[in-house]
Amino acid sequence: MVALQHTESRLSSREHAALTRSVTARNYAPLPVVVAEAHGAWVTDVDGRRYLDCLAGYSALNFGHGHPVLLRAAREQLERVTLTSRAFYNDRLGPFARDLAALAGMDLVLPMNTGAEAVEAGIKVARRWGYQVKGVPAGRAQIVVAAANFHGRTTTIVSFSTDESAREGFGPFTPGFTVVPYGDADALRAALTPETVAVLIEPVQGEAGVVVPPPGYLAAVRQACTDAGVLFIADEVQSGLGRTGATFACELEGVIPDVYLLGKALGGGIVPVSAVVSRRDVLDVLTPGSHGSTFGGNPLAAAVGSAVVGLLATGEYQQRAAALGVRLRDRLDGLVGRGVRAVRSRGLWAGIDIDPDLMTGRDACERLAERGVLVKDTHGQTIRLSPPLVVEPDDLDRAVEALAAVLDEGAR
Ligand SMILES: *Cc1c(COP(=O)(O)O)cnc(C)c1O
Repeated sequence: MVALQHTESRLSSREHAALTRSVTARNYAPLPVVVAEAHGAWVTDVDGRRYLDCLAGYSALNFGHGHPVLLRAAREQLERVTLTSRAFYNDRLGPFARDLAALAGMDLVLPMNTGAEAVEAGIKVARRWGYQVKGVPAGRAQIVVAAANFHGRTTTIVSFSTDESAREGFGPFTPGFTVVPYGDADALRAALTPETVAVLIEPVQGEAGVVVPPPGYLAAVRQACTDAGVLFIADEVQSGLGRTGATFACELEGVIPDVYLLGKALGGGIVPVSAVVSRRDVLDVLTPGSHGSTFGGNPLAAAVGSAVVGLLATGEYQQRAAALGVRLRDRLDGLVGRGVRAVRSRGLWAGIDIDPDLMTGRDACERLAERGVLVKDTHGQTIRLSPPLVVEPDDLDRAVEALAAVLDEGAR
């Protein structure tokens, strides 16, 4: 391990946290862990303590920290060219888009950077498709979304959030969205009108606490969209790229959407890379000047994205997520009734509802950190486990044992 060179490295964890809090906007309340290095599934803090990373950057680190194949791709590209803008071609974007489209079974890729940008671009494409292809009257397009969704943080996206803390004080909001309950295909079908251009949903709701819809729901959504002539947009920013035991969570239900929105793991935890991936007849509504991004499709992002697609093309990570997911679920089910109210999971991705009589999700996370396991709470009582897919089985078991110990210890 290489010693950090900066003078700041002499600050303690406590001092770093205080410094960061004093000079950054308060839009986060981090756990008191100051990460200085990370390799694979493990991170080391500034005081030299090691933690198993069971959050993995909310699935941005599906391949772990510093995966050698991804680091090599980034390093080699750093030396060649990193940014061209889309004013010119670069020799990385074509191969990346070709291979990503092939992985998704689609035709075209619209490269962006963050997940929210992919969602925004998906909304724009759906609206334009609605006007130009479906024939919706100008300015009337509607998009149906699900309650408890999480699609990002832009003004338009929070316009259709049902989480008041994400919206409060940020209006006026963008119109054109209809919210229906998640998991209820009849309600969704009833909400489709001749002016509906798309249904935008997460195949598994991540931020909501790894909420898995009832069996058959995604297939029913697919059928409803086909019947009504509406685009099915699957936001697989968090559920996609191996996490659930398949390349896409939709696959587990045998469903093919019209549009995939990808992000997070697509950048290998190195650079932000996102994409709208769809058929030619959908993405062809975009014309020069109608959409763009200074950084989208840059050669560094494309080189890393290509390497990510290469890792996924082997199927190895999807299989690992599926196998480790069975193991994780088995062990977590053993905690139900022992301080855990409910467990939901898909592949190596679990939402665990902590008994509110015992402690909050935040308490559980702080106490897990003291025991060397990093996880994050969501919506008060739920903790979410999404370790890198490269995690060792024994380490995964120890994380669950640490959770069991925290729960057995009970309220403090
Ligand atoms: C994280 C997330 C986003 C937003 O991604 P950012 O890169 O944070 O903008 C969108 N959709 C889903 C499902 C996500 O989990």
